[in-house]
Amino acid sequence: MPPPPPPLRFDVLTLFPGLFEGFLSESILKRAIRRGLIGVNLWDIRRWALDKHRSVDDTPFGGGPGMLMMAPPVVSAVEAVQASFGDRPGRLIAMTPAGRRLDQAFVEELAREPRIVLLCGRYEGFDQRIFDILRPEPLSIGDYVLSGGEVPAMAVIDAVMRLVPGVLGDDQSAIDESFGPDGGLEYPQYTRPRSYRGLDVPEVLLSGDHAAIARWRRQHRRTAGPSR
Ligand code: SAH
Repeated sequence: MPPPPPPLRFDVLTLFPGLFEGFLSESILKRAIRRGLIGVNLWDIRRWALDKHRSVDDTPFGGGPGMLMMAPPVVSAVEAVQASFGDRPGRLIAMTPAGRRLDQAFVEELAREPRIVLLCGRYEGFDQRIFDILRPEPLSIGDYVLSGGEVPAMAVIDAVMRLVPGVLGDDQSAIDESFGPDGGLEYPQYTRPRSYRGLDVPEVLLSGDHAAIARWRRQHRRTAGPSR
């Protein structure tokens, strides 16, 4: 019998699938994929180019610098990938600096989806008709401009997969950390050695007194915001 499909599957559409190789083949993500907890499929948009040069970009009407991703290959690629899912189209997200800003609340929302399609732009971005026809959710990872949607897509995959049950070694790790249920940021943490360059680990953390440790951590949780 074939193994059951992973609970969460990402489909990434990009002109540079090779960028994901190292990302998918190391550490937590590699383990999660091997254990069938996450699936990541890469689709090369160039496969859906129509002419013999396999063009996917062209100059903007009205002039201006750079190239734009053309609507026909991108729309065909997304439609073909979504059609391969059967009746559920999955949640379609286009990476763009003009989108809503990614935060932990949205990451949690995405972690409840079975299927997420991430569309990566390049050059100066997308022909507007890609948005008009496909109606993706535009998503930004912050107010700065990168040269492609691949790093933003990796940020989404990384943040979301940590919340899939079983992916992190200890299910508590995703609850205790920054932006958790209380919205705070992580308390200071220490590991060996106990003393380093004259800085000692706070005594309470070595005490074995779990209630006192919990109290200390609560007190030292940092708050989000400019006072950080
Ligand atoms: N000309 C565009 C920037 C294009 S950057 C503008 O002025 O807004 C090329 C591609 O990189 C974009 O299509 C998008 O997919 C990706 N990208 C760049 N910065 C990003 C960000 N902060 N968040 C999400 N995607 C981004």
